[in-house]
Amino acid sequence: MIIMERGATREQIQQVLNEVTRYGVRAEISNTDSTIVIELVGDEKMIPVSAVTSLPGVKAAIQIETPYKLVSREYSRYVGNSLENLKIKVGDVVLGNGKPVYIAGPCAIESETQIMKIAEGVKQAGAHILRGGVFKPRSSVHSFQGLGSIDWKKAEEALKWLRRAGEQFGLPVVTEVRGEQQVDLIAEYVDILQIGSRNMYDQDLLVAVARKKKPVLLKRHFGASVEEFLSFAEYIAAENNKNIILCERGIVPVGKGKNFTRYMLDLGSVPAIKKETYLPIIVDPSHAMGRRDLIFNMSCAAIAAGANGLMIESHYNPEEALVDGSQAVTPEELGAIIRACNRIYKMITPKNNLN
Ligand code: PEP
Ligand code: MN
Repeated sequence: MIIMERGATREQIQQVLNEVTRYGVRAEISNTDSTIVIELVGDEKMIPVSAVTSLPGVKAAIQIETPYKLVSREYSRYVGNSLENLKIKVGDVVLGNGKPVYIAGPCAIESETQIMKIAEGVKQAGAHILRGGVFKPRSSVHSFQGLGSIDWKKAEEALKWLRRAGEQFGLPVVTEVRGEQQVDLIAEYVDILQIGSRNMYDQDLLVAVARKKKPVLLKRHFGASVEEFLSFAEYIAAENNKNIILCERGIVPVGKGKNFTRYMLDLGSVPAIKKETYLPIIVDPSHAMGRRDLIFNMSCAAIAAGANGLMIESHYNPEEALVDGSQAVTPEELGAIIRACNRIYKMITPKNNLN
């Protein structure tokens, strides 16, 4: 990161850009109130510090070791951004302004009637954003992969249903992008692009999705450390897209015997991540628990831990769901969860922060 002197000229800035890009890094100019800062993306260790500090107009060059500097609170302080907590606006919904945001809907979209009925139910329950999978990541090729996997026409049809359901009930929509070839199509229809847990490490997919300039919901890989999680969020931020919603969804359980939950929900990561980054973080208790009867408690716990929202799978008849029915709650159950979570949020939030 290079900080220019106050009043540095255009030519001086250009000279710095010419110098640093010779070492294969990308440089971006960030204009804070009074200073010009040149942010570097790439291996800045390649640049000899003296090559930069000796140039006219340069005040200082600071090397930042953290692999997720663009999304870190620490770095945002250096570049003068007042990024206390990043607020991400999706339609009329604001993520990260404190108040919990609830994303709900089926694991997979099955028909127009199904998504319409669920959208109506979750809206009534108090949800803000509608989810629904079109391309499902599944462990077995013999199980239902989502309507998108049937053919391209079916994928587009399902995306249109999702969009229509969202419009009808005033809910922005989110769906998972499972592969690079799906990015263009999905980006046409949804407000938020989701990267599933299995794809957190797919940097090419992250870059492709980031370039759509829409908010990205990035789920933590079930085997990833928090540092890796933030480092892969950095791939999105490095494309000049900082509208990243992080999602904790459980990590691999420990030991040999039964754990009684599908994954281990790492709620400790929530306040820890909030210290490290200004990005909002939500929790998905559905995929973590894999059981409907545990969703209520873990939702409450997630909000108590400081989560900015929840993503919960919901279906009017979970027994009939083609995917993940065992962990889906009914819209009525969802309503009870949202009411309890809102009470908890109020209880733990200082009065002057309530809005
Ligand atoms: C999902 O949210 O639909 C999903 C498949 O979750 P995860 O990527 O966390 O397993
Ligand atoms: Mn699911």
